[in-house]
Amino acid sequence: MASPLVRHTFEGTLTADDSKRYLNNAFEVPDGVERLELKLEFAPLRVSGIGNMLTLSVYDPAGSRGAGHRGGAEHRVFITRYSATPGYVPGPLSAGLWLIEIDTHLIMPGPPCDYQLEVAAYGGSGNEAPSWPPTHPGIRLRRGPGWYRGDLHRHSDHSDGHWTVDDLVAWARANRLDFVTLTDHNTISGLARMDDLTADDLLTIGGSEMTTYWGHALALGVHRWVDWRVQPGKRSMRDIASEVTESGGVFVIAHPKSPGDPDCTGCDWRYADMMPGNARVVEVWNGSWTGDSNNERAVALWYSWLEQGLRIVASAGSDAHEATPPNVRLGYNVVYANELTEREILEAIATGHSYLSSGPRLELTAEMPNGLLAMSGDLLPREATKLRLRWQLANGDARLRLVVDGRFVEEQTAGSSGEWMLDVGRWSARSCLVELRTRSDELAAMTNPIFWDAS
Ligand SMILES: [Zn+2]
Ligand SMILES: [Zn+2]
Repeated sequence: MASPLVRHTFEGTLTADDSKRYLNNAFEVPDGVERLELKLEFAPLRVSGIGNMLTLSVYDPAGSRGAGHRGGAEHRVFITRYSATPGYVPGPLSAGLWLIEIDTHLIMPGPPCDYQLEVAAYGGSGNEAPSWPPTHPGIRLRRGPGWYRGDLHRHSDHSDGHWTVDDLVAWARANRLDFVTLTDHNTISGLARMDDLTADDLLTIGGSEMTTYWGHALALGVHRWVDWRVQPGKRSMRDIASEVTESGGVFVIAHPKSPGDPDCTGCDWRYADMMPGNARVVEVWNGSWTGDSNNERAVALWYSWLEQGLRIVASAGSDAHEATPPNVRLGYNVVYANELTEREILEAIATGHSYLSSGPRLELTAEMPNGLLAMSGDLLPREATKLRLRWQLANGDARLRLVVDGRFVEEQTAGSSGEWMLDVGRWSARSCLVELRTRSDELAAMTNPIFWDAS
């Protein structure tokens, strides 16, 4: 390749005190640049068996050009007008000040971590062509009001996933989902391809996982990059949640009880002012029910909020980074939506018109005094206390557990299908939901709550 128009090397030494910072390396891109190359190397990669974690984010003079949220001690990146390393956004390489940010998710105590970042900007022949023509299929099957099943949390090779966007969508199709979301860490570079893959039988939804140093959150339905960089005193998680909601998206607290540093950097939810603050949805079923995410504790956290009378609803997400073996039981969201569009699905998720399930059906409804039917997520008048629970496809030895204001109050065996008429009037409840548990106490399905105002 021709010699670069500009080349810079940035280097330094970091210690544990430099964890959770945003290290900016600025350089001027001249006119006529067609290809940008970056190489970040650091050492040591591991201390006491635990990896230091540095990642790169790139900003052009107008804003984010993506991020490469993945492990390893060597990160190589290229960006051109038409293509880029997954995670980064292709496009014109405009002249001006660019920032190459090193995000220090974790630097272990112990030996200092030396890093070197090389930046090179090349001119070009101008002959590069797009690798595939942008397509705009415009297909959106509006199948009308009904139940739709899908996944709200998934990663591709645009961050630390081990499969492409195409593979991720193919797997959703093989699992007969109605909708699937791409939520890569701190980048939206995969969403263009995701949009292309929406088809009559499968709605693809966009978003990202804001992978901050003190907790992770999903920005569902936001197709632009959301600045995830919480900076104490300047930009709070509360600000980010407001921004997501004001953009028409749904903000979801992700896997709040996952183990945190150093095993999973920033994975546990530590925002004291966001318990749950202005969040309205919390992911209580992340990956396999019995996996590392401590889902049982996430449910307990959610129940503690319901006990306070807060109207907050739950979601599930596979958090899949590759195809999961068939014996792993994931939780999906089964959503009652007016139509199969991103807007309507996310509206129903935010409202709680949904239940979480690894297979069984579980529908909680209520008859209102005016004869209309209400369902989970709805706010009922005080006098409407008669509920109907219907379930199907449960294992014969399953149990139903009634949860009022975040506390178990009643339990009964389920059988594979049936109906349970409930009158919750005696509890003066502010919320009520039902769990379906297996004999070994694993969650098989769970409704969202029906709510009442405090009397
Ligand atoms: Zn996460
Ligand atoms: Zn994730």
